[in-house]
Amino acid sequence: MEQRRVRVRFAPSPTGPLHMGGVRTALYNYLFAKKHGGDFLLRIEDTDQSRYVSGAEQYIVDALAWCQMGIDEGASVGGENGPYRQSERKPMYKQYADQLIESGYAYYAFDTPEELNEMRERMKSAGVASPQYNAVTRSGMKNSLTLPAEEVQKRLNANEKHVIRIKMPRNEDVKFEDVIRGWVSVNTNNLDDKVLFKSDGMPTYHLANVVDDYLMNISHVIRGEEWLPSAPLHVLLYQYLGWDTHMPKFAHLPLILRPDGNGKLSKRDGDRLGFPVFPTNWTNPETGEKSSGYRERGYYPEAFNNMLAFLGWNPGTTKELFTMDELIESFSLDRVGRAGAKFDFDKTNWFNQQYLRKQSGEELAPQLKPLLAEVGLVADDSYVANVCELMKERATFVKDILKEGRYFFEAPTSYDEKTIKKKWKESTPEIITELRDLLGSLNSFDPESIGACFKIFLEEKGLGFGAVMPGFRVSVTGLGAGASMNEIAALLGKDEVLKRINIALKTIKK
Ligand code: GLU
Repeated sequence: MEQRRVRVRFAPSPTGPLHMGGVRTALYNYLFAKKHGGDFLLRIEDTDQSRYVSGAEQYIVDALAWCQMGIDEGASVGGENGPYRQSERKPMYKQYADQLIESGYAYYAFDTPEELNEMRERMKSAGVASPQYNAVTRSGMKNSLTLPAEEVQKRLNANEKHVIRIKMPRNEDVKFEDVIRGWVSVNTNNLDDKVLFKSDGMPTYHLANVVDDYLMNISHVIRGEEWLPSAPLHVLLYQYLGWDTHMPKFAHLPLILRPDGNGKLSKRDGDRLGFPVFPTNWTNPETGEKSSGYRERGYYPEAFNNMLAFLGWNPGTTKELFTMDELIESFSLDRVGRAGAKFDFDKTNWFNQQYLRKQSGEELAPQLKPLLAEVGLVADDSYVANVCELMKERATFVKDILKEGRYFFEAPTSYDEKTIKKKWKESTPEIITELRDLLGSLNSFDPESIGACFKIFLEEKGLGFGAVMPGFRVSVTGLGAGASMNEIAALLGKDEVLKRINIALKTIKK
């Protein structure tokens, strides 16, 4: 049989910002598509108008762009299988619901919300824990299976409110092979007569999802585990619509769990534990509530993707750092686990640190410059690049370079109290003065010369490192710890170092 072209879709509902679990689903779809030379589609599932949130679709498009997932077909880029917004596909669905009715796999139901409630109450008092509209209860309800044909027709002609439900068969096993979970078998006695078509003329998620996957020629449905219970219904719809041979392969991804492994990671966990759960910032247009995103917190999309890729997948080796191309190369659904994947915020930071360190000072400088400008600091490019090169080992984010190394751009305005208290002895001013004079006599002011000078100074004076270095450091940087003083001093330059020592000698009082 000819191999089917790989076509996958990410199909979010625009009900709010994209949770990072959603971004992971998108990423796995994207990686799978690109690995197999296939297409990655973005389909907006907006059939539930009551849950529509304005701005959410744009948010999704922007977030995928930030994560560098190129969309092959979708509302924002077009394509041959559009429209890619389900609300714009509205006229396409009805015929399939009608087809199911004609072939006896679906029926009209006219029950009012009150009648549905009554049925549920009745079942509950008869001891049924979660009452459903199903093969048992449907016979007592108002639908085209119980009402005479003329009455059904009359109600339809009168445009009476109704839905179309699937007629779930009794006691049949629905089986399908999930790429990640293996064979899944569910007995239809556990499934209800789901609504396929709503009274507002819109299909429900289930019908629209299957129809669109078919019409868009989707080969693999890769989505979150929460959709696994819906999969048997979808499999039946493929059969009932006569599309068996076009049924996509299903792959249900494991949940993303809280850091302690207890339950699914939610937005509230992020708020509570202080990490973002969204890729980018989001402001709820209705409430004005703000949620922070990884992008604005200073994370690199490469680091974010790399972290997400590992939430459920592993390459089978010890290699952890993967560029997007390497992820595409290595990704396979065979190596996606079934067990929930614990989110680890420290690991996320670690990934960011690794991506920061991989960059040269020249690459980091343009990232630091706007942050400097924000606080009114300026310096030339090569100097900023040198600072970045020196400081990147101590940083997780570019902003850390400013936080830890502000002294590179302005003289200290205060001196670390703890260091002064512990290390600034009565003899320190004299020692530092002598050191200053020795440094002042150096012809070349590079790290090696400064280091050698410092060593000679200690030897000649018979002093220990601890008697000189903390005083020197605090005078020049204001801090008690940091990068190598030889490097710092060399970067600042002789004049600046001597100037700072002079100020410190005048300012620091015990
Ligand atoms: N619209 C569904 C969602 O919001 C899509 C589920 C699927 O991929 O089938 O997750």
